Amino acid sequence: MKTLVTTINPPSPHWVGNGFPVRTLFSYHDQAQALSPFLLLDYAGPMTFPGDGLKRGVGEHPHRGFETVTIVYEGEVEHKDSTGKGGVIGQGDVQWMTAGAGILHEEFHSKAFSQNGGDLQMVQLWVNLPKQHKMTPPDYQKITKDEIPHVPLADNAGVVRPIAGAFLGHQGPASTFSPMQVWNITLNADGQTQFDVPEGWTTAVVILEGAVSVNDSAPLSVGSMALLSHEGSTVKLHGQQDSLVLLLSGEPIDEPVVGHGPFVMNTKQEIAQAFTDLKQGQFGRI
Ligand code: MN
Repeated sequence: MKTLVTTINPPSPHWVGNGFPVRTLFSYHDQAQALSPFLLLDYAGPMTFPGDGLKRGVGEHPHRGFETVTIVYEGEVEHKDSTGKGGVIGQGDVQWMTAGAGILHEEFHSKAFSQNGGDLQMVQLWVNLPKQHKMTPPDYQKITKDEIPHVPLADNAGVVRPIAGAFLGHQGPASTFSPMQVWNITLNADGQTQFDVPEGWTTAVVILEGAVSVNDSAPLSVGSMALLSHEGSTVKLHGQQDSLVLLLSGEPIDEPVVGHGPFVMNTKQEIAQAFTDLKQGQFGRI
């Protein structure tokens, strides 16, 4: 069984733009190697927004060298980027955006959500790209709720929905550049499950709703995260009430991580180059 290395308590929230009240559970600034291939996780909300028509979110900004994965649990987000792609993702949908060589994008609440108001609950996960793929052309996978498998657990314990990677032979739809598993797991009250992830992989369990014991830990509350050892393979989850967790597991990318704001590369020189390329208009325009 994997052992519990550390638990992260719910951090204080801060705003990203004026649309996303987020708690940053981990970041490449201080935990790049421990969480590799994952770079950062922001848990936005849950928060209720008024239906006042105000455009809320984050205006045009660049990214290079990694992928941003936006998972919507409640609410609607609208995205536009410099590849000409964009669209609205709503409850249960996922946007897997490959910044690669460089992208400019904006992220706002959808027009309908701004007008009608409602609950916002989402996760934005940053996934690193291996050195050889950092300058891949930018791309965007829109993954709708109905494309994500729905795999019931034994004994009515809950449901696993693999976004990336396979659970019991059910393959998640996301295409990735390194091996990983990103799964939404709902657990019913007192629901228990256990499964194996590959030995040597990074594994983290993020509690989004309810309270969950991870590998026999004390119950972890909303906004907490359990980081498990690379050694061992078994992960055990026990829902203390109706709960929702995000399981992240992946093969570590054993390369230097040098990040500055929206760019994550391997060297300082590549970061400087990103700023130069941005200034020279090489990220295109929205
Ligand atoms: Mn962004």
